[in-house]
Amino acid sequence: MSRFYITTAIDYANGDPHLGHAYEKVGADAIARYRRLRGDDVWFMIGMDEHGQKVAQAAAAEGLEPQALVDRVAARFQSMWRRLAISHDQFIRTTDPAHKAGVVELIERIFERNPEDFYEQSYRGRYCVGCEAFKQESEVTDDRCELHPTRTLEWVEERNWFFRLSRYRDFLLDLVESDPGFVQPESRRNEILGLLRQGLDDISASRARFTWGVPFPRPTSQGEQQTTYVWFDALPNYWTATRASDAGAAWPAQLHVIGKDITRFHCVIWPAMLRAADLPLPAQVWAHGFVYFRGERLSKSAGATLDLGEAVDRFGPDAFRYFLLREIPWDSDGSFTWDRFTDLYTADLADGLGNLASRSLAMLAKYREGQVPAADATSLDGAGLEAIRGYEDAMHCNDLRGATESAWRIVTAANQYIVQTAPWALAKAGQEAELDLALAALARCLYRMAILASPLMPGKAEELWACLGLPGCAAEAPWSSLQDPPVTGMVTHKPAGLFPRPESPATH
Ligand SMILES: [Zn+2]
Repeated sequence: MSRFYITTAIDYANGDPHLGHAYEKVGADAIARYRRLRGDDVWFMIGMDEHGQKVAQAAAAEGLEPQALVDRVAARFQSMWRRLAISHDQFIRTTDPAHKAGVVELIERIFERNPEDFYEQSYRGRYCVGCEAFKQESEVTDDRCELHPTRTLEWVEERNWFFRLSRYRDFLLDLVESDPGFVQPESRRNEILGLLRQGLDDISASRARFTWGVPFPRPTSQGEQQTTYVWFDALPNYWTATRASDAGAAWPAQLHVIGKDITRFHCVIWPAMLRAADLPLPAQVWAHGFVYFRGERLSKSAGATLDLGEAVDRFGPDAFRYFLLREIPWDSDGSFTWDRFTDLYTADLADGLGNLASRSLAMLAKYREGQVPAADATSLDGAGLEAIRGYEDAMHCNDLRGATESAWRIVTAANQYIVQTAPWALAKAGQEAELDLALAALARCLYRMAILASPLMPGKAEELWACLGLPGCAAEAPWSSLQDPPVTGMVTHKPAGLFPRPESPATH
């Protein structure tokens, strides 16, 4: 059993969860669930990034203490993750005392092992609270941050602690060149290589005059107590989580799932920090793309809004998960549209898996009183095993869309098989042996679909499993049982309606 510690980015606590957050959590959840199916010792960690000036300002605008604001936001995220059946084992919040103590410990480790890595320097520049970053002249238009045109840039002049990131350029370049798996997909790896070849600037590690964060453990030479800067506060969460009282993982992580906009933090700054602290590096950083809605990225600041709750409600959480996994490639960008959502739901779920299940189980009920007959393998089993291999291969390289497509080849093959064998005609003609062969083959298909669908649509997969009269649950079935599903003699029953057909075309 290999251990598999998987994380997503922690979400910034300045708004409600949106489609981009959901996409990342659902994708990582599918990977975590698949790994559990394969018998790995999985620990899946997600959480919230709750410090920073932006949070403090948003709280002040509402007349709240920052802690009260982040408590409310965290509760909303957790409620959405429960609804989407995200199977995380741990939910970290950067306001947790254990995390704050861990941040201090990590910084102290660097001071002890590589004292030259921190130094003091005066800094002046224009700071965007929206980005929580200093902006270069090229990123400023009409005295405003291009990403946050409604915010006023702050002129900041202060003496801070700096981290000597530049020192780790050669180490990082060698790492990313020699270990192609460290940053994936390949497009993101190439971006990081390009960035590293240009060279690295040192980065600020502390800020003066703002208090909603972790106190930087050492005062400046002028005796000033500063606050730990965002990346030294947020990035260590993956490590501090392994030291919390509810931790079940050991450092390092096997996989960090993040968005492609934060690769610099995770593939450059984070491994440099770990190296400076003499800690092991994560095995892989996977940077997924963006989900667009009406041509815009789904985030509050971009202005495009899709009510996540409404999208989940449309056909239920499992159908929504299916859409994200099947439609948006895990290695690049994709779009959400209501029409495409309805089309895919109708074709793959209502008319696809749902119809296959209800027809197959109805025929078992009608001709065999629900009991699955004993019968040999058929050509349909061959198609099933080929689809399983495709699913495994795709999952192996985090190709979630490819895995989903592969699984659904079983549905297509089974629906064709029903047309070809016409079990109702076999029943009419009294060809009982042939009828047994067909009905048992279809039951094996449903067994395989329940297991392959369980990382993708955990709720519906278990509904299907229960219809097959099987003990236990699909998520805990032995992977090896896919070869020859143990369905003979099971007493099945018809589903109550796995995926009802939409009543009318979408009006959006
Ligand atoms: Zn900005």
